[in-house]
Amino acid sequence: MAAMNFVSELKPFKNMWKIQVKIIRLWKQYSAAGGETIEMVFVDARGDKIAGTVKRELVGQFNRVLQEGDTKVIINFTVTNSGGSYRPSKHPFKIVFLPTTRVRICEDLPNNLTGLNPVKFGDVLNGVLDDDYLVDVIGQIVEVTQMEIVSVKGKDTQKISVELRNEDDERLPLVLWGKFAEDVSNAIQLRSEQSIVCVLRFGKIKVWKEDRSISNAYNVSNVSLNPQMDEVQAFMSLLPSDDLAMAIVDPKSNAVVPTVKERDEFFRHTPRKTISMVLESKQVEKCIVMASIGAIDSDMGWYYLSCKVCAKKVLTVPNDIEDGDEFNVSGHNYYCIKCKDKNPQLLPRYKLHLVVLDNTNDTKFLLFDNLAMQLLHKPCLELTGPVTDEDPDMLPPILQDLVGKTLLFKIGIERENYLYKHPTYKVLKIMSVIGMINEFDVIGSPTESQNTFGGTYSALSDAPEGSLMLHGGSSQSDKTSDLTPAKRMRSPIINLEDAFDQNSVTRSVGTRKIKQEKNEKSG
Ligand SMILES: [Zn+2]
Repeated sequence: MAAMNFVSELKPFKNMWKIQVKIIRLWKQYSAAGGETIEMVFVDARGDKIAGTVKRELVGQFNRVLQEGDTKVIINFTVTNSGGSYRPSKHPFKIVFLPTTRVRICEDLPNNLTGLNPVKFGDVLNGVLDDDYLVDVIGQIVEVTQMEIVSVKGKDTQKISVELRNEDDERLPLVLWGKFAEDVSNAIQLRSEQSIVCVLRFGKIKVWKEDRSISNAYNVSNVSLNPQMDEVQAFMSLLPSDDLAMAIVDPKSNAVVPTVKERDEFFRHTPRKTISMVLESKQVEKCIVMASIGAIDSDMGWYYLSCKVCAKKVLTVPNDIEDGDEFNVSGHNYYCIKCKDKNPQLLPRYKLHLVVLDNTNDTKFLLFDNLAMQLLHKPCLELTGPVTDEDPDMLPPILQDLVGKTLLFKIGIERENYLYKHPTYKVLKIMSVIGMINEFDVIGSPTESQNTFGGTYSALSDAPEGSLMLHGGSSQSDKTSDLTPAKRMRSPIINLEDAFDQNSVTRSVGTRKIKQEKNEKSG
């Protein structure tokens, strides 16, 4: 048998090559032209990488013998030109399997042969790198938005925007879509004090106007958080030791331009009601209410202990002790009904009872975890600390910052609300966008106007929206606003700065606070 070849030697002139490679990435790809194919990236002992394809008609033949992470000897295949704008390797050629290709079991290549080859942030940002080639990136997550659901080709897709930093404290914007957005969102919810290092394999450089960012490419990319890799250990040891707190900020796209879908939902598909109208309603329905937060009802607590797995509230189970004829209780355990788990892992989640008012009446809105986080920019766990017991009697000061804010609430009116006069309505969505509130107000008034900014934009594109971020102004109005509902909402808005000055509502309050925190930490 011929000697082993190296990946760097492979050229199209012959087929009888023999290589030993590790499959560092494997995914199925579907295209209308090619059907379902197996796509792979191989690395050899020298660290050189090359892409490989098993065409539709051979998928059945090779499906079982090819697994990500495996090392194989592959003999006899075609080498063809590599092209396109999603190239996982610098290699000018790629491997195409033949019906006569042989895949042999062999001794594994070393575990630490990962093929990871992180690029410099600067090379991404200044356009040195050709965006036809996919890149690896490693960085610490230092800023993250709430996860958004956006419509991509008619399908709801999760999206999260992250800022990574490297060992030189440079920053790189990263946008993650789909499952990876959810993974990051969960990791941030559940993180302890340790920092989160994100490793993106085969990411796509996105160019939008002059700005560059990285995004995951459908199917091809892989994202892992704090993976056990030598590269991650080495990276962490080089990070600045400044204990930089992770900032959770408003999604940048939503800060100015809500998606068409969101606008439609708020302005066309859901009726607007005043609080009086809500209280008088006698049917199950959803509606939009513009109201100011007057207070937080601390009697009702502000969080609940949930099961980390299913998010349901856990039950307390008293420990019974038989003491003669009597039963005493000593302490308690927790139980998750849904998971049937007698020792569930606990996670505190927000459950805020807001006293809200407009100029017609007042009532209570119930705000659950994700929505509360959208306003507070911190996971509940960060405020409670490690919870050993459910004793949420004191309101943390940050919750008081909500008082005085005017927001658009989408609420659900349920049967018990009108049948039993239960005046607490569950909030389904909140919109704290300046443009939305003004538009809402304009539409609600007799003089309809065309002054909406950003009306034709949508946040559906996967282009980075970084330039649209609003930063906190110097006005103190959100601190000092009294409870006159929606008081400064009447004048039509012409441009952003005006909107910014006149509005007491959003202005990325969280961002401003976070910036202060950073200064305190670093100063
Ligand atoms: Zn559970």
